[in-house]
Amino acid sequence: SSNRGNMADPPPNIKHPMRIKIIIKSNKFFIFTHVEKHLSVIKSIDKPSGKEFFMIIALLKENQPEETRVALVPKHIAELTAKGICVHVQSDAGILSGFSNQEYMKAGAEICSTPEETSGDADIIVKMWALNNHSLKPQQTLVCNTANLSTEQLKALSEKRVNVFALDKIPRTSRAQDMDILSSQSNLAGYEAAIIGAANVREVMPLMITSAGSLPPLKAFVMGLGVAGLQAAATLHRLGSVVFAYDIREETRVQALSVGASWVDKLTPEFLSSLKLVITTAQISGKSAPKLLTRQQLQHLPKECVIIDLAAAGGGNIEQKHLSPSIKVIADSFLERRIPHSASTLFSGNVCNFLRLLIEDNEVKPDFQDEIICATMICCHKQSKCF
Ligand code: NAD
Repeated sequence: SSNRGNMADPPPNIKHPMRIKIIIKSNKFFIFTHVEKHLSVIKSIDKPSGKEFFMIIALLKENQPEETRVALVPKHIAELTAKGICVHVQSDAGILSGFSNQEYMKAGAEICSTPEETSGDADIIVKMWALNNHSLKPQQTLVCNTANLSTEQLKALSEKRVNVFALDKIPRTSRAQDMDILSSQSNLAGYEAAIIGAANVREVMPLMITSAGSLPPLKAFVMGLGVAGLQAAATLHRLGSVVFAYDIREETRVQALSVGASWVDKLTPEFLSSLKLVITTAQISGKSAPKLLTRQQLQHLPKECVIIDLAAAGGGNIEQKHLSPSIKVIADSFLERRIPHSASTLFSGNVCNFLRLLIEDNEVKPDFQDEIICATMICCHKQSKCF
Protein backbone atom coordinates (compact mmCIF):
# COMPACT_ATOMS: atom_id res chain seq x y z
CA SER A 1 0.00 0.00 0.00
CA SER A 2 1.03 3.59 -0.36
CA ASN A 3 -0.27 7.05 0.21
CA ARG A 4 -0.76 10.00 -2.07
CA GLY A 5 -0.81 8.51 -5.48
CA ASN A 6 1.98 5.92 -5.60
CA MET A 7 0.71 3.10 -7.78
CA ALA A 8 1.97 -0.33 -6.69
CA ASP A 9 3.45 -2.31 -9.61
CA PRO A 10 1.70 -5.65 -10.21
CA PRO A 11 3.68 -8.89 -9.76
CA PRO A 12 5.23 -9.92 -13.15
CA ASN A 13 3.42 -13.28 -13.31
CA ILE A 14 -0.07 -11.69 -13.43
CA LYS A 15 -1.21 -11.09 -17.03
CA HIS A 16 -4.14 -8.68 -16.57
CA PRO A 17 -3.59 -7.16 -13.18
CA MET A 18 -6.18 -4.92 -11.58
CA ARG A 19 -4.25 -1.80 -10.66
CA ILE A 20 -5.26 -0.51 -7.26
CA LYS A 21 -4.23 2.42 -5.18
CA ILE A 22 -4.76 3.12 -1.49
CA ILE A 23 -5.15 6.68 -0.29
CA ILE A 24 -5.15 7.70 3.34
CA LYS A 25 -7.44 10.59 4.12
CA SER A 26 -8.25 11.78 7.61
CA ASN A 27 -9.37 8.64 9.50
CA LYS A 28 -10.07 6.47 6.45
CA PHE A 29 -8.32 4.29 3.87
CA PHE A 30 -9.79 4.67 0.39
CA ILE A 31 -9.08 1.77 -1.96
CA PHE A 32 -9.23 2.79 -5.62
CA THR A 33 -9.18 0.88 -8.85
CA HIS A 34 -8.66 2.26 -12.33
CA VAL A 35 -11.73 2.47 -14.60
CA GLU A 36 -10.30 3.47 -17.96
CA LYS A 37 -8.15 6.52 -17.13
CA HIS A 38 -10.01 7.44 -13.94
CA LEU A 39 -9.84 6.32 -10.37
CA SER A 40 -12.90 4.76 -8.82
CA VAL A 41 -13.33 4.02 -5.10
CA ILE A 42 -14.11 0.37 -4.43
CA LYS A 43 -13.95 0.45 -0.65
CA SER A 44 -13.28 2.82 2.21
CA ILE A 45 -12.13 1.51 5.59
CA ASP A 46 -11.85 3.40 8.87
CA LYS A 47 -8.38 3.62 10.35
CA PRO A 48 -7.44 4.69 13.84
CA SER A 49 -5.45 7.79 12.97
CA GLY A 50 -3.93 9.45 9.96
CA LYS A 51 -2.61 12.55 8.30
CA GLU A 52 -4.32 14.80 5.78
CA PHE A 53 -2.92 13.79 2.38
CA PHE A 54 -5.52 14.07 -0.26
CA MET A 55 -8.09 16.47 -1.56
CA ILE A 56 -11.77 15.57 -1.51
CA ILE A 57 -14.35 17.59 -3.43
CA ALA A 58 -18.00 17.01 -2.52
CA LEU A 59 -20.88 17.66 -4.90
CA LEU A 60 -24.17 18.14 -3.06
CA LYS A 61 -27.67 17.69 -4.45
CA GLU A 62 -29.72 20.87 -4.66
CA ASN A 63 -32.47 21.07 -2.04
CA GLN A 64 -34.79 23.70 -3.55
CA PRO A 65 -37.71 21.76 -5.04
CA GLU A 66 -37.80 23.88 -8.22
CA GLU A 67 -34.06 23.54 -8.93
CA THR A 68 -33.35 21.05 -11.72
CA ARG A 69 -29.67 21.79 -12.25
CA VAL A 70 -26.52 20.31 -10.70
CA ALA A 71 -23.26 22.18 -10.11
CA LEU A 72 -20.81 19.60 -11.56
CA VAL A 73 -21.42 17.14 -14.41
CA PRO A 74 -19.59 13.83 -14.99
CA LYS A 75 -17.37 15.16 -17.80
CA HIS A 76 -15.80 17.74 -15.48
CA ILE A 77 -15.63 15.31 -12.55
CA ALA A 78 -13.56 13.02 -14.79
CA GLU A 79 -11.07 15.89 -15.23
CA LEU A 80 -10.78 16.22 -11.45
CA THR A 81 -10.42 12.49 -10.72
CA ALA A 82 -7.82 12.22 -13.50
CA LYS A 83 -5.73 14.68 -11.45
CA GLY A 84 -6.01 12.35 -8.43
CA ILE A 85 -8.71 14.37 -6.67
CA CYS A 86 -11.28 12.25 -4.88
CA VAL A 87 -14.86 13.36 -5.67
CA HIS A 88 -17.87 12.47 -3.51
CA VAL A 89 -21.26 12.90 -5.17
CA GLN A 90 -24.52 12.84 -3.25
CA SER A 91 -26.75 10.14 -4.71
CA ASP A 92 -29.09 11.42 -7.46
CA ALA A 93 -27.46 14.88 -7.45
CA GLY A 94 -27.70 15.02 -11.25
CA ILE A 95 -30.86 13.02 -11.79
CA LEU A 96 -33.11 15.98 -12.73
CA SER A 97 -30.50 17.23 -15.22
CA GLY A 98 -30.23 13.81 -16.85
CA PHE A 99 -26.95 12.67 -15.25
CA SER A 100 -27.21 9.29 -13.50
CA ASN A 101 -25.21 7.97 -10.54
CA GLN A 102 -23.65 5.44 -12.95
CA GLU A 103 -22.29 8.25 -15.15
CA TYR A 104 -20.74 9.92 -12.10
CA MET A 105 -19.23 6.60 -10.98
CA LYS A 106 -17.81 6.03 -14.46
CA ALA A 107 -16.16 9.44 -14.16
CA GLY A 108 -14.47 8.19 -10.99
CA ALA A 109 -16.75 9.65 -8.30
CA GLU A 110 -17.86 7.89 -5.15
CA ILE A 111 -21.63 8.03 -4.63
CA CYS A 112 -22.69 8.85 -1.05
CA SER A 113 -26.20 8.56 0.28
CA THR A 114 -26.56 11.55 2.64
CA PRO A 115 -25.34 15.18 2.52
CA GLU A 116 -23.31 14.51 5.69
CA GLU A 117 -21.62 11.44 4.22
CA THR A 118 -20.91 13.36 1.00
CA SER A 119 -19.39 16.47 2.52
CA GLY A 120 -18.20 15.34 5.98
CA ASP A 121 -14.53 14.76 4.94
CA ALA A 122 -14.51 17.20 2.02
CA ASP A 123 -12.01 20.01 1.55
CA ILE A 124 -14.22 21.73 -1.02
CA ILE A 125 -18.01 21.56 -1.23
CA VAL A 126 -19.52 22.49 -4.58
CA LYS A 127 -23.19 23.36 -4.83
CA MET A 128 -25.31 25.52 -7.10
CA TRP A 129 -26.92 27.49 -4.24
CA ALA A 130 -25.30 28.28 -0.87
CA LEU A 131 -25.79 25.99 2.11
CA ASN A 132 -26.78 27.36 5.47
CA ASN A 133 -23.68 27.79 7.62
CA HIS A 134 -24.56 25.13 10.21
CA SER A 135 -23.61 22.32 7.88
CA LEU A 136 -20.08 23.60 7.18
CA LYS A 137 -17.11 22.56 9.28
CA PRO A 138 -14.22 24.92 10.08
CA GLN A 139 -11.71 25.23 7.19
CA GLN A 140 -14.04 23.67 4.65
CA THR A 141 -14.40 25.64 1.41
CA LEU A 142 -17.77 26.24 -0.20
CA VAL A 143 -17.97 27.23 -3.88
CA CYS A 144 -21.48 28.26 -4.95
CA ASN A 145 -23.91 31.01 -5.92
CA THR A 146 -24.65 33.02 -2.75
CA ALA A 147 -27.50 35.12 -4.16
CA ASN A 148 -29.96 33.05 -2.08
CA LEU A 149 -28.45 34.32 1.19
CA SER A 150 -29.36 37.55 2.96
CA THR A 151 -26.68 40.02 4.04
CA GLU A 152 -27.11 38.74 7.62
CA GLN A 153 -26.61 35.14 6.53
CA LEU A 154 -23.47 36.11 4.58
CA LYS A 155 -22.14 37.92 7.65
CA ALA A 156 -22.89 34.88 9.83
CA LEU A 157 -20.90 32.71 7.40
CA SER A 158 -17.94 35.06 7.52
CA GLU A 159 -17.85 34.69 11.32
CA LYS A 160 -17.23 30.93 11.09
CA ARG A 161 -13.79 29.54 10.22
CA VAL A 162 -14.96 28.46 6.79
CA ASN A 163 -14.01 29.64 3.30
CA VAL A 164 -16.77 30.77 0.96
CA PHE A 165 -16.28 31.74 -2.68
CA ALA A 166 -19.32 33.31 -4.34
CA LEU A 167 -19.58 32.49 -8.03
CA ASP A 168 -22.24 35.19 -8.47
CA LYS A 169 -19.54 37.76 -7.66
CA ILE A 170 -17.16 36.76 -10.48
CA PRO A 171 -15.99 40.06 -12.04
CA ARG A 172 -17.32 40.76 -15.54
CA THR A 173 -13.92 40.91 -17.18
CA SER A 174 -12.53 39.05 -20.20
CA ARG A 175 -10.23 36.95 -18.01
CA ALA A 176 -13.10 35.82 -15.78
CA GLN A 177 -15.53 35.15 -18.63
CA ASP A 178 -15.13 31.36 -18.54
CA MET A 179 -16.08 31.32 -14.82
CA ASP A 180 -19.07 33.68 -15.11
CA ILE A 181 -22.15 31.69 -14.05
CA LEU A 182 -24.46 34.71 -14.53
CA SER A 183 -23.49 34.95 -18.20
CA SER A 184 -23.64 31.23 -18.96
CA GLN A 185 -27.05 30.87 -17.35
CA SER A 186 -28.49 34.16 -18.75
CA ASN A 187 -27.42 33.12 -22.22
CA LEU A 188 -29.46 29.91 -21.94
CA ALA A 189 -32.40 31.74 -20.31
CA GLY A 190 -32.49 34.12 -23.29
CA TYR A 191 -32.44 31.19 -25.73
CA GLU A 192 -35.20 29.43 -23.81
CA ALA A 193 -37.32 32.62 -23.67
CA ALA A 194 -37.33 32.71 -27.49
CA ILE A 195 -38.19 29.00 -27.73
CA ILE A 196 -40.99 29.26 -25.15
CA GLY A 197 -42.25 32.40 -26.86
CA ALA A 198 -42.37 30.54 -30.19
CA ALA A 199 -44.24 27.66 -28.55
CA ASN A 200 -46.84 29.96 -26.99
CA VAL A 201 -47.73 32.38 -29.78
CA ARG A 202 -50.56 31.30 -32.04
CA GLU A 203 -48.67 31.97 -35.26
CA VAL A 204 -45.59 30.68 -37.06
CA MET A 205 -42.37 32.64 -36.62
CA PRO A 206 -40.96 32.82 -40.19
CA LEU A 207 -42.47 34.06 -43.40
CA MET A 208 -44.20 31.09 -45.06
CA ILE A 209 -45.18 31.10 -48.69
CA THR A 210 -47.28 28.03 -49.45
CA SER A 211 -49.71 26.91 -52.15
CA ALA A 212 -52.52 27.57 -49.66
CA GLY A 213 -51.40 31.16 -49.13
CA SER A 214 -48.69 33.20 -47.37
CA LEU A 215 -48.13 33.81 -43.68
CA PRO A 216 -46.16 36.90 -42.62
CA PRO A 217 -43.20 36.62 -40.22
CA LEU A 218 -44.05 37.26 -36.58
CA LYS A 219 -42.94 40.55 -35.01
CA ALA A 220 -41.09 40.19 -31.71
CA PHE A 221 -39.64 42.85 -29.40
CA VAL A 222 -36.76 42.30 -26.97
CA MET A 223 -36.34 44.91 -24.21
CA GLY A 224 -32.99 44.91 -22.40
CA LEU A 225 -29.99 43.71 -24.43
CA GLY A 226 -27.67 42.19 -21.82
CA VAL A 227 -26.54 38.59 -22.21
CA ALA A 228 -30.10 37.13 -22.07
CA GLY A 229 -31.66 39.75 -24.32
CA LEU A 230 -29.00 39.42 -27.03
CA GLN A 231 -29.36 35.64 -27.08
CA ALA A 232 -33.19 35.94 -27.17
CA ALA A 233 -32.96 38.35 -30.13
CA ALA A 234 -30.43 36.13 -31.96
CA THR A 235 -32.59 33.02 -31.44
CA LEU A 236 -35.80 34.78 -32.55
CA HIS A 237 -33.96 35.96 -35.66
CA ARG A 238 -32.78 32.40 -36.40
CA LEU A 239 -36.37 31.19 -35.99
CA GLY A 240 -37.34 33.61 -38.74
CA SER A 241 -39.23 36.29 -36.84
CA VAL A 242 -38.77 40.01 -37.45
CA VAL A 243 -36.96 41.19 -34.31
CA PHE A 244 -36.92 44.66 -32.75
CA ALA A 245 -34.80 45.56 -29.75
CA TYR A 246 -34.17 48.34 -27.25
CA ASP A 247 -31.90 49.02 -24.25
CA ILE A 248 -31.12 52.16 -22.28
CA ARG A 249 -27.44 51.58 -23.07
CA GLU A 250 -26.81 53.21 -26.45
CA GLU A 251 -23.82 50.91 -27.13
CA THR A 252 -26.16 47.93 -27.50
CA ARG A 253 -27.60 49.47 -30.71
CA VAL A 254 -24.76 47.97 -32.78
CA GLN A 255 -25.01 44.64 -30.89
CA ALA A 256 -28.74 44.49 -31.76
CA LEU A 257 -27.89 44.92 -35.44
CA SER A 258 -25.19 42.24 -35.23
CA VAL A 259 -27.76 39.59 -34.19
CA GLY A 260 -30.26 40.60 -36.86
CA ALA A 261 -32.55 42.86 -34.78
CA SER A 262 -33.70 46.39 -35.68
CA TRP A 263 -33.26 49.11 -33.08
CA VAL A 264 -36.40 50.88 -31.86
CA ASP A 265 -36.39 54.30 -30.21
CA LYS A 266 -40.04 55.27 -30.39
CA LEU A 267 -42.74 52.98 -29.06
CA THR A 268 -45.64 54.27 -31.18
CA PRO A 269 -49.16 52.77 -30.86
CA GLU A 270 -48.77 51.29 -34.41
CA PHE A 271 -45.51 49.57 -33.47
CA LEU A 272 -46.88 48.20 -30.18
CA SER A 273 -50.09 46.92 -31.76
CA SER A 274 -48.08 44.94 -34.38
CA LEU A 275 -46.19 42.87 -31.76
CA LYS A 276 -47.05 39.23 -31.07
CA LEU A 277 -44.20 38.49 -28.68
CA VAL A 278 -42.42 40.70 -26.14
CA ILE A 279 -39.40 39.45 -24.15
CA THR A 280 -38.22 41.67 -21.28
CA THR A 281 -34.86 41.17 -19.54
CA ALA A 282 -34.02 44.52 -17.88
CA GLN A 283 -32.49 44.34 -14.45
CA ILE A 284 -30.57 46.78 -12.26
CA SER A 285 -28.24 45.10 -9.77
CA GLY A 286 -29.45 45.46 -6.16
CA LYS A 287 -32.66 47.27 -7.16
CA SER A 288 -36.13 46.25 -8.29
CA ALA A 289 -36.58 45.66 -12.00
CA PRO A 290 -37.61 48.78 -13.94
CA LYS A 291 -41.11 48.87 -15.43
CA LEU A 292 -40.51 49.11 -19.16
CA LEU A 293 -43.95 49.94 -20.56
CA THR A 294 -46.42 52.51 -19.24
CA ARG A 295 -50.03 51.63 -18.57
CA GLN A 296 -51.00 53.38 -21.82
CA GLN A 297 -48.36 51.55 -23.86
CA LEU A 298 -49.49 48.19 -22.46
CA GLN A 299 -53.00 48.88 -23.66
CA HIS A 300 -51.77 49.10 -27.27
CA LEU A 301 -50.48 45.51 -27.25
CA PRO A 302 -52.75 43.18 -29.25
CA LYS A 303 -54.93 40.75 -27.28
CA GLU A 304 -53.10 37.67 -28.63
CA CYS A 305 -49.67 38.99 -27.58
CA VAL A 306 -47.40 36.81 -25.39
CA ILE A 307 -45.00 38.39 -22.88
CA ILE A 308 -41.99 36.58 -21.39
CA ASP A 309 -40.69 38.51 -18.38
CA LEU A 310 -37.21 37.35 -17.34
CA ALA A 311 -36.95 40.00 -14.62
CA ALA A 312 -39.68 38.33 -12.52
CA ALA A 313 -37.33 37.71 -9.55
CA GLY A 314 -36.76 41.48 -9.25
CA GLY A 315 -40.49 42.29 -9.39
CA GLY A 316 -40.82 42.03 -13.19
CA ASN A 317 -40.57 44.54 -16.07
CA ILE A 318 -44.31 44.49 -16.79
CA GLU A 319 -47.14 45.59 -14.52
CA GLN A 320 -49.53 42.75 -15.14
CA LYS A 321 -52.51 44.51 -13.51
CA HIS A 322 -52.61 46.93 -16.48
CA LEU A 323 -52.74 44.18 -19.09
CA SER A 324 -55.70 42.84 -20.99
CA PRO A 325 -56.57 39.40 -19.46
CA SER A 326 -56.20 37.77 -22.91
CA ILE A 327 -52.47 38.53 -22.96
CA LYS A 328 -50.42 35.58 -21.76
CA VAL A 329 -47.54 36.45 -19.42
CA ILE A 330 -44.79 33.97 -18.54
CA ALA A 331 -42.81 35.56 -15.70
CA ASP A 332 -39.80 33.43 -14.84
CA SER A 333 -36.22 34.44 -14.04
CA PHE A 334 -34.88 30.88 -14.24
CA LEU A 335 -35.92 29.64 -17.66
CA GLU A 336 -32.56 27.86 -17.92
CA ARG A 337 -33.96 25.34 -15.42
CA ARG A 338 -36.14 24.03 -18.25
CA ILE A 339 -33.00 22.94 -20.13
CA PRO A 340 -31.09 21.58 -17.11
CA HIS A 341 -28.70 19.28 -19.00
CA SER A 342 -27.27 22.22 -20.97
CA ALA A 343 -27.48 24.67 -18.04
CA SER A 344 -25.68 22.25 -15.69
CA THR A 345 -22.98 21.53 -18.28
CA LEU A 346 -22.15 25.24 -18.67
CA PHE A 347 -22.42 25.93 -14.91
CA SER A 348 -20.11 22.97 -14.26
CA GLY A 349 -17.62 24.32 -16.83
CA ASN A 350 -17.60 27.65 -14.95
CA VAL A 351 -17.07 25.83 -11.61
CA CYS A 352 -14.23 23.75 -13.03
CA ASN A 353 -12.46 26.83 -14.40
CA PHE A 354 -12.82 28.52 -11.00
CA LEU A 355 -11.47 25.43 -9.19
CA ARG A 356 -8.36 25.60 -11.40
CA LEU A 357 -7.71 29.02 -9.90
CA LEU A 358 -8.37 27.83 -6.36
CA ILE A 359 -6.45 24.55 -6.31
CA GLU A 360 -2.71 24.08 -6.58
CA ASP A 361 -1.02 20.70 -6.07
CA ASN A 362 -4.33 19.24 -4.92
CA GLU A 363 -4.65 21.78 -2.11
CA VAL A 364 -6.86 24.85 -1.66
CA LYS A 365 -4.34 27.65 -2.27
CA PRO A 366 -6.07 30.88 -3.30
CA ASP A 367 -3.83 33.72 -4.43
CA PHE A 368 -5.17 36.59 -2.34
CA GLN A 369 -3.69 39.10 -4.83
CA ASP A 370 -5.81 37.71 -7.67
CA GLU A 371 -8.72 40.02 -8.55
CA ILE A 372 -11.09 37.06 -9.19
CA ILE A 373 -10.26 35.50 -5.81
CA CYS A 374 -10.68 38.87 -4.05
CA ALA A 375 -14.00 39.58 -5.74
CA THR A 376 -15.51 36.18 -4.96
CA MET A 377 -14.17 35.58 -1.46
CA ILE A 378 -16.95 36.08 1.08
CA CYS A 379 -14.77 34.76 3.87
CA CYS A 380 -11.57 32.79 4.35
CA HIS A 381 -10.20 31.29 7.56
CA LYS A 382 -6.70 32.49 6.60
CA GLN A 383 -7.79 36.10 6.14
CA SER A 384 -9.05 38.22 9.01
CA LYS A 385 -11.65 40.14 7.00
CA CYS A 386 -13.44 39.53 3.80
CA PHE A 387 -17.12 40.23 3.80
P1 NAD B 1 -28.55 42.64 -16.75
O1 NAD B 1 -29.17 41.31 -16.64
O2 NAD B 1 -28.11 43.30 -15.50
O3 NAD B 1 -29.55 43.67 -17.50
C1 NAD B 1 -30.06 43.36 -18.77
C2 NAD B 1 -30.09 44.58 -19.63
O4 NAD B 1 -31.16 45.43 -19.22
C3 NAD B 1 -28.84 45.46 -19.59
O5 NAD B 1 -28.31 45.52 -20.89
C4 NAD B 1 -29.35 46.81 -19.13
O6 NAD B 1 -28.70 47.89 -19.79
C5 NAD B 1 -30.80 46.74 -19.54
N1 NAD B 1 -31.68 47.70 -18.88
C6 NAD B 1 -31.66 48.13 -17.59
N2 NAD B 1 -32.64 49.03 -17.39
C7 NAD B 1 -33.29 49.19 -18.57
C8 NAD B 1 -34.38 49.99 -19.00
N3 NAD B 1 -35.02 50.80 -18.17
N4 NAD B 1 -34.77 49.89 -20.29
C9 NAD B 1 -34.14 49.06 -21.15
N5 NAD B 1 -33.11 48.28 -20.80
C10 NAD B 1 -32.68 48.35 -19.52
O7 NAD B 1 -27.35 42.63 -17.82
P2 NAD B 1 -26.25 41.51 -18.06
O8 NAD B 1 -26.76 40.48 -18.96
O9 NAD B 1 -25.76 41.07 -16.75
O10 NAD B 1 -25.13 42.31 -18.86
C11 NAD B 1 -24.83 43.65 -18.58
C12 NAD B 1 -23.61 44.08 -19.40
O11 NAD B 1 -22.43 43.44 -18.93
C13 NAD B 1 -23.69 43.75 -20.88
O12 NAD B 1 -23.11 44.81 -21.60
C14 NAD B 1 -22.84 42.56 -21.04
O13 NAD B 1 -22.32 42.44 -22.36
C15 NAD B 1 -21.77 42.88 -20.04
N6 NAD B 1 -21.11 41.65 -19.63
C16 NAD B 1 -19.76 41.54 -19.80
C17 NAD B 1 -19.13 40.37 -19.46
C18 NAD B 1 -17.65 40.21 -19.65
O14 NAD B 1 -17.01 41.06 -20.22
N7 NAD B 1 -17.06 39.14 -19.14
C19 NAD B 1 -19.83 39.30 -18.92
C20 NAD B 1 -21.21 39.44 -18.76
C21 NAD B 1 -21.83 40.63 -19.11
